Amino acid sequence: MPVHDDTSIRSEFLPVGRPMLGDEERDEMLDTLKSDWLSKGPKTKLFEEQFKEYVNSAYAVSVSSCTAGLHVALRSAGVKEGDEVITTPMTFVATCNAILYCGARPVLVDIYPDDLNICVEKIKSKITARTKAIIPVHFAGHPCEMDGIMDIAKEHGLIVIEDAAHAIGSEYRGKKIGSIGDMTVFSFYATKNITTGDGGMISTNNEEYAVKAGIFSFHGLSSDAWQRYAPQSKGVYETVELGYKYNMTDIQASIGIHQLKKVDRFIDIRQKYAHIYDEELSGIPCISITKMKQYVKHSRHIYPIVLDIDKLKISRNDFIEAMKKENIGCSVHFMAIHKHKYYREEIKIDSSDLSTASYVSDRVLSLPLYPKMTEKDVYDVIKAVNKLIRIYNK
Ligand SMILES: *Cc1c(COP(=O)(O)O)cnc(C)c1O
Repeated sequence: MPVHDDTSIRSEFLPVGRPMLGDEERDEMLDTLKSDWLSKGPKTKLFEEQFKEYVNSAYAVSVSSCTAGLHVALRSAGVKEGDEVITTPMTFVATCNAILYCGARPVLVDIYPDDLNICVEKIKSKITARTKAIIPVHFAGHPCEMDGIMDIAKEHGLIVIEDAAHAIGSEYRGKKIGSIGDMTVFSFYATKNITTGDGGMISTNNEEYAVKAGIFSFHGLSSDAWQRYAPQSKGVYETVELGYKYNMTDIQASIGIHQLKKVDRFIDIRQKYAHIYDEELSGIPCISITKMKQYVKHSRHIYPIVLDIDKLKISRNDFIEAMKKENIGCSVHFMAIHKHKYYREEIKIDSSDLSTASYVSDRVLSLPLYPKMTEKDVYDVIKAVNKLIRIYNK
């Protein structure tokens, strides 16, 4: 499709992300509302069964969000006060908040400039006697270097909990994300690749972690409500841990069951649009795009670009404002963790040796990318980016 005249502006605002829901989700939800079971019950169980099959893991434990899932996974791994957990600064604040909920300290390792994922070579120098776990975050859906990460973890006796909020459907060297680390946590927030409104899932191949995750996500009880009220149940269960009220509901699972059936189709569309962005944006000055490894499947949750603001007469934030005037929504994934006020002032997080993340944090922005977009929308975005770069190039 040709990128035609410069001056025209889209007539309708294009948001940066939107969910894609259909009649199947609506009908299933209505069916749940008519039933007698609204909270965690048969539909949540079914969603968990489907999910573990999809990611090729032995167990799947549903939770109320990815944030809750990360907290539960860290507790299940035994992370406690005084421990250290290694992760990336290029993530949503929830990753590090979950570490703090356990009384542990996040330790940040810089990222690769190519895919913006945690730099494996730099992990080792941050390991101390207090290090308990590593949380790799598959940024934008591009898998981290899991072979290197698993090797380091094995050598040092660390637990690997993957933050796969962006990475449902992604694969690393032929293996589904969700089947590799000790535990993997997914998000079904409204703008993620699939949604349940809010929700999350922990996948694992370790029975002990699966049992613990079930306990921590439901009040620390030795069995959850669905089992307690089941006909064959004796109905007596005790608190064995200080757990949380972090379960998914059957209302959420009703949506998830059908979203999961559509995830591969959604990813196909995302990949097609990302390919158009790659082709059309790679020739534009002052912009860099991420590079994809040959041996991964990339779920393309977000499409980040990095602006060379030193060669532009405009800051990243002003560029986003200018895009809004073109009727196109953009957002920032992410402001690096060490740049947040709370992490600077209260946590006094160690921000040394994070030069790539610091650079990217001030320059990165995400363009709209989701299956509800049309191909014309994609070309409208490219046209607007082209126009602004031409106007603001020094
Ligand atoms: C969205 C997101 C989360 C949190 O997911 P919720 O389901 O909203 O709790 C965690 N990590 C990353 C990288 C995310 O993008």
